[in-house]
Amino acid sequence: CGIVGYVGPRPSQDILIAGLARLEYRGYDSAGIAVIDGNGDLGMRKKAGKLSMLRDSLADAPLGDGTTGIGHTRWATHGGPTDVNAHPHLADDDKLAVIHNGIIENFSALREELLASGVEFRSETDTEVAAALLGREYAKSGNLQDAFQNVVNRLEGAFTLLAMHEDHPGLVVGARRNSPLVIGLGEGENFLGSDVAAFVEHTRKALAIGQDQIVSITPSEVTVTDFSGSPVEAEPFDVSWDA
Ligand code: GLU
Repeated sequence: CGIVGYVGPRPSQDILIAGLARLEYRGYDSAGIAVIDGNGDLGMRKKAGKLSMLRDSLADAPLGDGTTGIGHTRWATHGGPTDVNAHPHLADDDKLAVIHNGIIENFSALREELLASGVEFRSETDTEVAAALLGREYAKSGNLQDAFQNVVNRLEGAFTLLAMHEDHPGLVVGARRNSPLVIGLGEGENFLGSDVAAFVEHTRKALAIGQDQIVSITPSEVTVTDFSGSPVEAEPFDVSWDA
């Protein structure tokens, strides 16, 4: 399973697919991406099966030239490997996209809470619970970073979690707990990945994200905090291995 995120000046679709291809060695059963274009339109495509299924579908009908994007390969834990259970999962009237590797241990209590407040779920995944929770939090403040911080503090288990919202083109937020996530630093563009393979063809400059930390990337800025929002210094490292 793998995760890739991109913000910058270039159309993200092909960058995401190439990143996911480099993460294929980790194993997966489904794949999906979402992109946001300059008009703030979010497009999403996801498919059970090999990455080539997703690639073929995108070749037939590209998502467009959105320059903010997230991509995911799934190794199903909650819900079978179907198109619907594949990631991204959407919330807030499909304006918000979330991807996740790992297991949210307390998803069923959160699911009950959200069902009681009228949320309807499409998938059987633990991940969609996090997406719905983020949608609800975001609706309160309109601040994606604050809402994301509130949500990750409520999640137990293991997660690499990425999110982006139509209202905020040029911003991808991420967090990690018991699951890997690294930052790739480009020129006027930045990346997130489960590991450096996700972006190694674009940059060799990387930042490690510690346990229980949150990151925001824009084309020009990278911010890392702990789960309480206090800034932390991320540790730079050079990607030295041959890509
Ligand atoms: N638990 C999530 C799911 O089943 C994520 C699995 C993964 O790590 O890919 O959809």
